[in-house]
Amino acid sequence: MENEIRCGQCGRKLAEGQYLTLHIKCPRCRAMNHFKATSHTPEHQGVPDRTRPDAKPTDHSVARR
Ligand SMILES: [Zn+2]
Repeated sequence: MENEIRCGQCGRKLAEGQYLTLHIKCPRCRAMNHFKATSHTPEHQGVPDRTRPDAKPTDHSVARR
């Protein structure tokens, strides 16, 4: 599958192909375009509770003999 990569400002076609992240400068309007493929990254979809770091060691009178 080929994706068209267009400038977000002037709409000029900059490239085509596949990318994960892409920084490309438009030669026409000189705008920096940042593209990021977020199609197959499962970010909080149907996951209500995230893993929070609550495994914090309590430091009261464990060592110190
Ligand atoms: Zn442009």
